[in-house]
Amino acid sequence: MKVAIIGAGIVGTATAHALLDEGHEVLILDKEGPAFGPSRGNAGWVAHTDILPIASPKIMRQVPKFLADPLGPLAIRPAYLPRLLPWLVRFVLAARPAAYERSIQGLAALQGLALPAWLKRLEAAGLKQHLHRKGGLYAFTDAAMLGHAAGIAKRQAEFGIKVEMIGPEDLRQLEPALSERFAGAAFHPDAAHISDPLALTTALFEAALARGAVFEKAEVTGISTGERPALVGRDGWQRLVDRVVVAAGAWSKPLAAAMGDAVPLDTERGYNVSFPGVTGLTSRPVGFEGHGFVMTPLDSGLRIGGAVEFGGLEAPPNHARTKLLYDKATTLVNGLPPYDSGTLWMGFRPSLPDSLPVIGKASRNPHVVYAFGHGHYGMTQSTATADLVAALIAGRPPAIELGHFSAQRF
Ligand SMILES: Cc1cc2nc3c(=O)[nH]c(=O)nc-3n(C[C@H](O)[C@H](O)[C@H](O)COP(=O)(O)OP(=O)(O)OC[C@H]3O[C@@H](n4cnc5c(N)ncnc54)[C@H](O)[C@@H]3O)c2cc1C
Repeated sequence: MKVAIIGAGIVGTATAHALLDEGHEVLILDKEGPAFGPSRGNAGWVAHTDILPIASPKIMRQVPKFLADPLGPLAIRPAYLPRLLPWLVRFVLAARPAAYERSIQGLAALQGLALPAWLKRLEAAGLKQHLHRKGGLYAFTDAAMLGHAAGIAKRQAEFGIKVEMIGPEDLRQLEPALSERFAGAAFHPDAAHISDPLALTTALFEAALARGAVFEKAEVTGISTGERPALVGRDGWQRLVDRVVVAAGAWSKPLAAAMGDAVPLDTERGYNVSFPGVTGLTSRPVGFEGHGFVMTPLDSGLRIGGAVEFGGLEAPPNHARTKLLYDKATTLVNGLPPYDSGTLWMGFRPSLPDSLPVIGKASRNPHVVYAFGHGHYGMTQSTATADLVAALIAGRPPAIELGHFSAQRF
């Protein structure tokens, strides 16, 4: 079959490989080129051990405190608030205890597929060197967070996820560059990180082309509902195919709307500063609990980033936010390079209010399959999503129940 994939981010690129495995003819379209969106500059953490959605009963109690600080870890640009309201309403609903528990089941099921899917894909593509398996740390400075972290570890243990609670001594043995301020950490020995998001997405993209996928730089503005769907472009061109995969990240909403699915997709904008060539300061990704940022030792250099800002897809970045993350980092990590030597970046996480992506068929055309909205975990979940999409297109039962991810769940 001829399958068109809209979007050459990590999800679209991984999906190209899963479809090539099945012998499909694959056409990848992207309005910019491969790895234009967050797949270019994310933190590179394969965080399959995270199974708790952001919308939770606990976060609802913290939101007012976060929002009071315009440069805090969570911010809404005031002018964007009216457009965000439908997403926020869904977020509040997703934070109710029963909905939260349902989302955990969905997230844990998808995360459970993630690492094996990555190992399989990288092995098959000859790109194993892009994955580093040194675990991940969630470090906290406030001893009062120990109970909270232990509670999360208990939930993770229910799903077979290994977490070791470690004290300050062990933490500094693992990561000597961390300051004396830490009270402890949750160590996830099975977490992993990648070489560099841009390098890996590009390598996978090129490997897909080498396997016969075809790339076209084009913006898709609509999809027809016929038996053989047609992609429609901005200047009126059309491409008739057998199946379509929508993997356009944070830009997927209008394409889904045209297929009859009003998905509350929005973007959580994230910021980072990277220091090219700075390697060896730390060995594994570290999340700074309660401080709203992570630090990853990519092969290309050290990256410090995080924050969640709601402001849509058009507003320019506000790198005062990046500077603030960096300034916090200097109080927690010794030996950081000067801010001015770093490169700044902002990216659009494609986010659904319940922290689950949309993976499933479109309402108006079962030959159109969605694969978008992976929020904070798109790098982690991309290869697993690709396998699920391939199963849907082949008409095979998917490896996990896809009801959690349906576009019609809202
Ligand atoms: C600061 C930050 C840190 C992050 N850290 C991590 C992390 O450590 N681990 C993790 O798992 N995830 C992380 N993420 C999330 C992850 O980066 C995203 O979930 C993931 O990159 C989404 O990939 P995607 O392929 O769905 O979308 P994208 O990367 O956005 O790709 C979509 C592509 O579609 C194209 N496109 C859009 N509309 C059209 C159209 N109409 N026609 C044609 N082409 C179109 C775009 O040009 C783009 O190239 C982070 C994100 C941010 C912002």
